[in-house]
Amino acid sequence: MVFYSTKSNEKVFHLPHCKIARRIRKEYKKQFATPEEARLAGYRMCNCCSLVGMRLRKEQNAVNHFCQENGISCWLEDGQLHVHTPRSKWRIIINGKANKLFLYHKNTYQKYEKIPSIVSGYHSQATRTKTIIG
Ligand SMILES: [Zn+2]
Repeated sequence: MVFYSTKSNEKVFHLPHCKIARRIRKEYKKQFATPEEARLAGYRMCNCCSLVGMRLRKEQNAVNHFCQENGISCWLEDGQLHVHTPRSKWRIIINGKANKLFLYHKNTYQKYEKIPSIVSGYHSQATRTKTIIG
């Protein structure tokens, strides 16, 4: 279950653990059954309740420094950390019960992906780490 406010002009949804979700007043609080359902309706996950976002806030200085040193840009969008290097595109998400970070890579050529991916158009790098810098 994910939540959104009918009072907000922004099309964002919140996970149940999010502080903002808990502050939405009853009369404005509506829900979708799943994040996928919310996305189909044009909603994206708010940055405040993104697990990667929470991790990023802890590591912000180190991540900024690393990006500057290596000519990388990164930003949060729809609960995922988008990472662009001069040569390639990556995404970092948090998944699973252990809240580990998963790295995904986008192919530069069109390729049929046999395995359905959580990150559409990207494939898993089979990398699990505890920190973004890692
Ligand atoms: Zn939220």
